[in-house]
Amino acid sequence: MKYDEKIYRPPLEANTLLLQVTSGCSNNNCTYCNMYKDVNFKTETLDQIEKDLLEARGYYPDAKRIYLLNGDPFILSAKRLKDIAKLVKKHLPECETITMYASIQSIALKTMEELKELKAAGINDLYIGLESGNDEVLDHVKKGYTANEAKKQLQRLNEAGIEFFSIIMYGIAGKGKGISNAVDTAALLSEVKSKSIFPMSTTLIPGTELHMEYLRGEFEEATEMERIIELKALIENLNVKDDTIISTLHASNSLTISGILPRDKKTFVDGLNDFIKNTDGEEFQRSVNRSAIRL
Ligand code: SF4
Repeated sequence: MKYDEKIYRPPLEANTLLLQVTSGCSNNNCTYCNMYKDVNFKTETLDQIEKDLLEARGYYPDAKRIYLLNGDPFILSAKRLKDIAKLVKKHLPECETITMYASIQSIALKTMEELKELKAAGINDLYIGLESGNDEVLDHVKKGYTANEAKKQLQRLNEAGIEFFSIIMYGIAGKGKGISNAVDTAALLSEVKSKSIFPMSTTLIPGTELHMEYLRGEFEEATEMERIIELKALIENLNVKDDTIISTLHASNSLTISGILPRDKKTFVDGLNDFIKNTDGEEFQRSVNRSAIRL
């Protein structure tokens, strides 16, 4: 298999076949991310993709799921994505789901007809690094869209029947701003239907623009306890209509919650309230070694 660079894939895809269809990230602008800083975005050739699929067939002839690399493969044209899906079906006929990261911008570039065709071609379970529903935060970390734009594009995915996982970051607004971030993010997530919501606690990565802001004193990190209070506010304000999995299994989180909303909302809020009430904030702060977290 051809892999040009260090591979990043969501924790859920640990057992999924990984296929390189792009290198790098077409956006490469988010201030907290360093994953593809030194990689030029490029698309893989269909010849190479077919070679990889032929090789993969030897190992996983019955693969049911495939994950397309790298940072934002959904930026490829609908035609290119359909060509890739055809190759996947040709060589891995048992494959039911083609999953990948997608950005709000890459969804906006597709017509509704194209989105429905992509769904019909097996493309589903998109990972959306939404991060926040607060315009100030989105602007600060240079996501390149507003909360309204994000809502519109996620609702288009809903209309097309493409399921998606919403990844959000708490702590990203900085010290003292977590509640407004939680309220706005919950408002956005309550107006779309995510298959799952995956909160991640913000971890400053050396070399990123956000980390430089921190070093210059322009960005103040939220304390670990503030983050838990923010997570609780997020869940309290989430009013999803359909069953939605919420899970903080990602390594960045200092507390693990996993369940289904709205069913488990009260359990989560009560449990987080207990934690907040009964935990010494300074001790908790010392217990979380964020610099040792590997993302
Ligand atoms: S967070 Fe995602 S979209 Fe932003 S630069 Fe990193 S890989 Fe690209």
